[in-house]
Amino acid sequence: MHVRSLASLFVLATLSLVPAAARTSGNKAALESALSTVKADEIQTDLYFIASDDLKGRDTPSEGLNVAASYLRARLKRLGWQPGAKDGYDYVWQVEKKGLEPANCHVEFAGHTLTLGKDYFLSGFGIASARETSGKAIWGGDGDKDALGKLELDGKWLVLSDHGRDLGALRRELLRKGLAGIVCVPAADYADKPYTERFSADLERQIEGSVAQVREASPATEEDSDRSRRPRGAPTVFVLPEAKAALFGALGVQEGQTPVGKELAVELKESRALAGNGGLVDVQNVCGFWPGSDPVLKNEVLIVSAHYDHVGVMRGQIYNGADDNGSGTCCLLSLAEALKQYGPLRRSVMLMWVCGEEKGLWGSEAWNKHPYLPEGCKAVADINIDMVGRNAPDKLLITPTHEHKSYSFLTKVAETYAPLEGFPKLGSADEYWHRSDHYNFVQAGIPACFLFSDVHEDYHKPTDDPDKIDYDKIHRVARLVLRMLDGLQDDKIDG
Ligand SMILES: [Zn+2]
Repeated sequence: MHVRSLASLFVLATLSLVPAAARTSGNKAALESALSTVKADEIQTDLYFIASDDLKGRDTPSEGLNVAASYLRARLKRLGWQPGAKDGYDYVWQVEKKGLEPANCHVEFAGHTLTLGKDYFLSGFGIASARETSGKAIWGGDGDKDALGKLELDGKWLVLSDHGRDLGALRRELLRKGLAGIVCVPAADYADKPYTERFSADLERQIEGSVAQVREASPATEEDSDRSRRPRGAPTVFVLPEAKAALFGALGVQEGQTPVGKELAVELKESRALAGNGGLVDVQNVCGFWPGSDPVLKNEVLIVSAHYDHVGVMRGQIYNGADDNGSGTCCLLSLAEALKQYGPLRRSVMLMWVCGEEKGLWGSEAWNKHPYLPEGCKAVADINIDMVGRNAPDKLLITPTHEHKSYSFLTKVAETYAPLEGFPKLGSADEYWHRSDHYNFVQAGIPACFLFSDVHEDYHKPTDDPDKIDYDKIHRVARLVLRMLDGLQDDKIDG
């Protein structure tokens, strides 16, 4: 479950489909046999792996996420599922991972080169972009606001003696004057924490960087190109004492003697490079395809989706995401096994484990922007499962309910079979309509429903662990989805 509700979204007005009356089961004997393969202890075994510390919280992108994907692929392959993506089980898409590569980040002046983390630090976190900042330097002395306020600073670097004072207010004021950047050098009486100690956490975050969605190119406007030429935010560079002599020697600065405001006839350049291939990283939704048996209906695909990513490691703590969404992930694994037992349904089924959900439903957005299905197929439904292993045994929520404008035959089918699996009445998850991957399927015109057993005290906490999960409940949700798939085999399902 994605943690923030997305602001200013337009809900696509989809047709309210008339619910079907009583449904006939697809194949009673096959269904009974398949239901019996869904076992709570097997789901538990899978979940203890998916939500183990070894997978480090399955952040997108991360090694742990890739290991989880390997596990899903191996299961699909063992069970004889067909690959559901163009070149195998992986639907590959990309994220931008913007982290600095310190060895290729430099400050250069008069033939000297300083290296980030070795000779200097940069303050702040959100600075991971490849860029260059150049300009002439000017001596700023001890950073006296009144003296500096009078200087012409447009496009220039200001070099300051750092006495350990907070430079925030001064910096904000000088930025308004078009300053290129600030270079701080510890003064002889500097008594604050050494720079290595003061900025090591910043450096770690700069290397770790941030992850962003790759935006598809839209026609550039003149205003855009103007904006991209203009660097965002002036850097503040903290030069270590060991590099001070070289810098001051090149600039011709003598502390205490050089007058404040003196123009220094030396060009300074600060440059940053991102790690990796310009920051682009491949990630994958894992897709398995179970072809239908009906010559016509096999082209109609019932998608069952669950996100298998979570939020990774924060402040040294692993967020295992056992319920969010190890529960849905393992629910789909047991469905893979159950459908193997069932054999083909009339319609085809796609199991889709998406990642990037916690970043903002990215994996389902990527797939729906450029969907891939085998030749001639089209998606007719998505059943999305996210967090189904906690709270009271009989508590299961669904959206869209009959009060929601996207209400469809899918909710009706779920309501028909839920009581058979210990969920006498499905509650409403309508307030979570924008919060998980079903939303992107609906935006793409595919009817969808979302099964969810509500948030709890461990939601998005490092304590969302497998020992707190109700495995019998997940097993009943898997059986319910299996009954739904079996109940969606009539010639017409949407009316
Ligand atoms: Zn979540």
